Amino acid sequence: MENANLLAKCPNCNRKHQNSKTKVLSQSEGRTTLYITCKYCQVSTLILVSESALGLVSIGMMIDLGENEVRDFIKKNAITDDEIIEVHRAMKKELSKGKEKSGG
Ligand SMILES: [Zn+2]
Repeated sequence: MENANLLAKCPNCNRKHQNSKTKVLSQSEGRTTLYITCKYCQVSTLILVSESALGLVSIGMMIDLGENEVRDFIKKNAITDDEIIEVHRAMKKELSKGKEKSGG
């Protein structure tokens, strides 16, 4: 699973996360959740890596929270890896409550 971050690309600048700062948030059978901070643009991304018949599949999501905040959120809400995408949606909701972004 060490090479998981090599597969992932930054959704912001579209560069490969080679040598970017990577933290493993959770790991279960065939599934890993990584928190990567892009070394080029410093945007943090939550990456889900799962093993499938086709090999490793990764989904990246930009996130406005720090590593500890993400951990906290996952812990507090007793979230499983399967629900991380839902979490991301929930986080976005939470975030948009406080600050309204105009534009895109
Ligand atoms: Zn980037």
